[in-house]
Amino acid sequence: MTHMPETNLPESVDPNRLKITSDDATKGTLIGFKCKECGTSVFGHAIFCQQCTSSDLEEVDLGDKGILFSYTIVRIPPAGWPGDVPYVLGQVELPAGPQVLAEVVDCAHEDLKIGMAVEMILQAVPAENGGPDKAVYKWRPTTAGA
Ligand SMILES: [Zn+2]
Repeated sequence: MTHMPETNLPESVDPNRLKITSDDATKGTLIGFKCKECGTSVFGHAIFCQQCTSSDLEEVDLGDKGILFSYTIVRIPPAGWPGDVPYVLGQVELPAGPQVLAEVVDCAHEDLKIGMAVEMILQAVPAENGGPDKAVYKWRPTTAGA
């Protein structure tokens, strides 16, 4: 594997939630916290368990795959939205339980199905204040077997 110059590589949009796992910043894993008392996992940083209020938490990899739980087709984006319009905002349930909201890409609207398998990809988005691009996580249909 060749070593790429690091100057133009995107950085995680949120290091508390997304860890980049490939040299070219196209793959990553979601990060969460798991309660050692009751086993409940949450996406992102947590100080105590939402289920049992224990503060005995450990950081866990939540992986890069899930199931589409619900979605919305957004026709009026938030100010500064850098992507296409309309776009699909998908709520995805991870195997460990937490749900993660992100754009769904590479899927025609008529092909969206609740319960379909999706995988996370990272896309580089220019930072608003200059500096390195931000690696943003998005969902796309899992193509294995297609
Ligand atoms: Zn708990």
